Amino acid sequence: MQYTVCMADDQRSAIGLRCLRCGGRVELSEEAYLCPNCGAGPDPSDAGVLDVEYDYDRARAELLDADGHVRSGRRDVFRYLPVLPVDGLASTLATGGTPLVRADRLAREIGVGALQLKDETRNPSRALKDRATAIGVTRAIAQGRPDVSCASAGNAAISLAAFAAHARLRAHAFVPSDASDVRLEWLAALGADVIRSEGDYDTAYGEAEAMRSEGWYSRNCAYNPFLVEGKKTCGLEIGEQLRWQVPDLVVSPVGDACTLAAIGKGFRELRRLGVTSRLPRLIGVQAAGQPAMVNRFRADDGAAAPEPMSGNTDAASIDVRHPRNARRLLLELEASDGELLTVEDDRMRDAQLELARGAGVVAELASAAALAGLRALAERESLTAATAVLVVTGGRTDKPITKGDSK
Ligand SMILES: *Cc1c(COP(=O)(O)O)cnc(C)c1O
Ligand SMILES: [Zn+2]
Repeated sequence: MQYTVCMADDQRSAIGLRCLRCGGRVELSEEAYLCPNCGAGPDPSDAGVLDVEYDYDRARAELLDADGHVRSGRRDVFRYLPVLPVDGLASTLATGGTPLVRADRLAREIGVGALQLKDETRNPSRALKDRATAIGVTRAIAQGRPDVSCASAGNAAISLAAFAAHARLRAHAFVPSDASDVRLEWLAALGADVIRSEGDYDTAYGEAEAMRSEGWYSRNCAYNPFLVEGKKTCGLEIGEQLRWQVPDLVVSPVGDACTLAAIGKGFRELRRLGVTSRLPRLIGVQAAGQPAMVNRFRADDGAAAPEPMSGNTDAASIDVRHPRNARRLLLELEASDGELLTVEDDRMRDAQLELARGAGVVAELASAAALAGLRALAERESLTAATAVLVVTGGRTDKPITKGDSK
């Protein structure tokens, strides 16, 4: 097997890792994973997750020209290489560079000043997850690791299986017992090794983590500190596509909490790089049948969080009992004055239909939660003067899109 890895040491702006839990500094290394002091901890939602830090003065000089335009001619996630933790590029499926779709009709119907959809269904495996996979697979190839693995209800595993097929790596997917047939068929088609857990996503997560000791490269986005860096390119792209005019709101569904937290980091970096001066309010949306992250957010405000329960929602991609990147999202919500809310499955179904008929974008149920959440927010406070970007995180529909039963 021959890979072209062009080492570009001069492009390295990543300088270290910091634990989001204890604040400790950890040196950059190929093996870096969770904080050596905190480890996985007793609470699966409060592990010692590490955050990649950069020399932003250096990154700015490499990323932007004197007029503040991005220098790179690339259209994929590696356009932002100076703020990514990779030293060289391997050949991977082209990821990112997804369009912002104007949704004027939906904006009028909901009562939002302006609405754009960040259409992540245009990624190679139809989901935002590919942004993290692109970084993970690039690092796995650079380290000469033939086995890559993850725990997933579907999208992360399918993404990994696609990239692994392309790069001739072996993908191992730990799926929950109730993984949908549609998703299992995708994994089979892409040639992944599927390990079906007896339990839920949490159980599968633990099983996947255990295989790190066998040298399998972990694509578990919340714990592997390098992967959210891929997801943050979604935020960087939104900023650049809007010519550095930051929207008032960015709305996204929330499961493990990596996606929205990463987008928040992207916007904080744009401000740190000096191209923008403010942050969007991050709005995270969860299923009413699995509000684990919402409960943590409210508990953070003083109340005690109820014990996490098994989920009762069809939105599999956000049915997460222990959000593994909770602390990262709480920090980003605080920085952006953001918030979390819940929506019922019926409202997600209505929103799924609205996205298709009102904007021509076919989203999976979990993705439609974002639109349902924005509608709920617009019913609570006037958004007629607000600009919003809604992240359509994935387009793999498990069932025909139908209308929710109004209660
Ligand atoms: C993974 C996923 C999410 C949730 O992202 P987290 O990082 O787990 O919060 C939302 N929507 C879709 C389609 C996903 O695949
Ligand atoms: Zn720590």
